Amino acid sequence: MAELEGLEFGKSDFVLLDEVTMEQFMENLKLRFEKGRIYTYIGEVVVSVNPYRQMEIYGKDTIDAYRGRELYENPPHLYAVSDAAYKAMKRRAKDTCIVISGESGAGKTEASKYIMQYIAAITNPSQRAEVESVKNVLLKSNCVLEAFGNAKTNRNDNSSRFGKYMDINFNFNGDPTGGHINNYLLEKVSVFVCFQLLRGGSAEMLESFHLQNDAAAYIYTREGAATATSNNDRSSHKAVMNALDVIGFSQEEISSIYQILASILLLGNLQFESDGENVQVVGQEAVKHISELTSTDPDGVTKSLLYRTVATGGGEVIEKGHSEQDACFGRDAFAKALYERLFGWIVSRINSIIEVKDYNPVLHGKNTVIGVLDIYGFEIFDNNSFEQFCINYCNEKLQQLFIELILQQEQGEYQREGITWQHIDYFNNQIIVDLVEQPHKGIISILDEACLSVGKVTDTVCLDSMDTKLSQHPHYTSRKLSPTDKTMDFQKHFRIRHYAGDVTYSVEGFLDKNKDLLFQDFKRLMYNSSNLVLKEMWPDGQLSITEVTKRPLTAATLFKNSIVALVDKLACKEPYYVRCIKPNEMKSPVLLDDARCQHQVAYLGLLENVMVRRAGFAYRQPYARFLQRYKMTCEYTWPNHLMGSDREAVEAIVTQHGFQDDVAYGHTKLFVRTPRSLFSLEQERAALI
Ligand code: ADP
Ligand code: MG
Repeated sequence: MAELEGLEFGKSDFVLLDEVTMEQFMENLKLRFEKGRIYTYIGEVVVSVNPYRQMEIYGKDTIDAYRGRELYENPPHLYAVSDAAYKAMKRRAKDTCIVISGESGAGKTEASKYIMQYIAAITNPSQRAEVESVKNVLLKSNCVLEAFGNAKTNRNDNSSRFGKYMDINFNFNGDPTGGHINNYLLEKVSVFVCFQLLRGGSAEMLESFHLQNDAAAYIYTREGAATATSNNDRSSHKAVMNALDVIGFSQEEISSIYQILASILLLGNLQFESDGENVQVVGQEAVKHISELTSTDPDGVTKSLLYRTVATGGGEVIEKGHSEQDACFGRDAFAKALYERLFGWIVSRINSIIEVKDYNPVLHGKNTVIGVLDIYGFEIFDNNSFEQFCINYCNEKLQQLFIELILQQEQGEYQREGITWQHIDYFNNQIIVDLVEQPHKGIISILDEACLSVGKVTDTVCLDSMDTKLSQHPHYTSRKLSPTDKTMDFQKHFRIRHYAGDVTYSVEGFLDKNKDLLFQDFKRLMYNSSNLVLKEMWPDGQLSITEVTKRPLTAATLFKNSIVALVDKLACKEPYYVRCIKPNEMKSPVLLDDARCQHQVAYLGLLENVMVRRAGFAYRQPYARFLQRYKMTCEYTWPNHLMGSDREAVEAIVTQHGFQDDVAYGHTKLFVRTPRSLFSLEQERAALI
């Protein structure tokens, strides 16, 4: 519970609102934003508004002010939750995690960086070299992941694609000893690191890759080149090369990484032409360059772009020529897969470098962990597709965990303090989670079934199948099921009633994205590369077409599995939350766009959060602190109390102000049910000072 700051800055904790309404929530958020207070609590949850300007609140002085303090001793700040997580880890040997969510551009990645910096600043006071080097690698790995995991979108110059989870391991001294990264990457190749390469790479480097110093010249970077401007690509490019080196990538590995990026850019520009019968690649030069960069045979490159090997029913293997359309599809799927494999490989290389080695729990004590999750919140666009479906499903899972853990935490605190637990009513979103993930009946299963069936199954057929199987589900509807609903004007729409609100998805492209098909010929081509780094990324390329019997898992199923694993990881940790809000679309430091913010408050479930927090006891404080703050308002406690224990003194204050029915006395803390009781006390105090 935050210290009650002067009210001219608004309420530093949303649980202190007079009433939990959107109006009051927004009013407080706006007031605080205007006063430069970008952080506000909901209990122990930090709500953060992107200030879009440099704030003087992250320096060494601030770090010192928060270090080792309790949450309520200082104004709300990321550092306070970081410290709380760190303390829980160090004092109670608890694994903890900090979950940061919000939409693209809301400030998640910045927040995760400040949290990491805070942890780096408060650990290893004796400056031991091994620990310093671990910290350095952890911080540098951020820079690499940012470069490779980010896209330039017009919403955010530096937007990470979906999510990243990093575990930091600590030894019994509370110093970092290593870490592990999991990445949740969605979407395409329009990536940051390519811009850096094209605009920031040296002339010599670009020439050796057969690239031009012009992002607009490449299909995959063209869109971003037009909308996003950047003037520090050269220094970012250098920083990434340097980070790779510091982390421990060899020079050979670093050049392979950039060769792969270059081939992706060249691939994207390849065109095909057809004389009605045969399809050809336009321009042999580019093919030659791609084969050179990937250390493969040029004929092999051409062949895999134009043909695919298929096994006939009789076990015969034949080569089937692509149509022009198939060739384009294959090319893009190949480029995308190259990028994904490269990214996955980089992450696993970093992990193998930062993993905690030779850890002996008997000798070294318990190895504890702080996890930092930087992940998209609910996404609702004008047109929502497969990506939004995945992200929103993930948010349902996280919301479920959030409610469970928050309730558990409350219950735990009441138990420790010897206060009777009261049942809290809340919406259990299991039903929506089931709608998506239930075996056989859920949307993912229905999608997978459609992808597996032979013959031409279209998105529309798949939607029909969903409509049939889910017609009775209270959280599912579609154009066909609600024909009179004018807000679903498109035949290919279905709608899920998420906990955060209704989202209408267009089923178009769902099947292709779910199948995520890549012809085996490309995998074989890469596996046969004489570049060992590249070869290592494609172990499945060693199978011949007749050996490829099992269908690979679909994108949705892989995604589901990774989210289930993530939730399992988080569930056994003590959670802390940062909820990020983007104030406006203009990157303006002074504008708080009401409608945009209300959406986010709703999608992040913040009002529900306040309600859950208030359902029990909204406010709690250790007796000594309470007494310190309010002793002047009571004749028995001013200037000194003569009442025996702090608790008795607090009872005297509460009784004198007449809200004894609104409180409970715990072993060490006073619990107040409704914030209103506190206001009169606070007013009286203000009148006296
Ligand atoms: P997200 O990861 O949520 O997509 P980012 O963390 O990348 O968003 O933030 C987007 C941009 O907003 C940053 O590049 C930075 O310019 C600005 N920003 C975010 N948080 C802060 C902050 N705490 N202080 C100053 N600027 C910030
Ligand atoms: Mg980000």
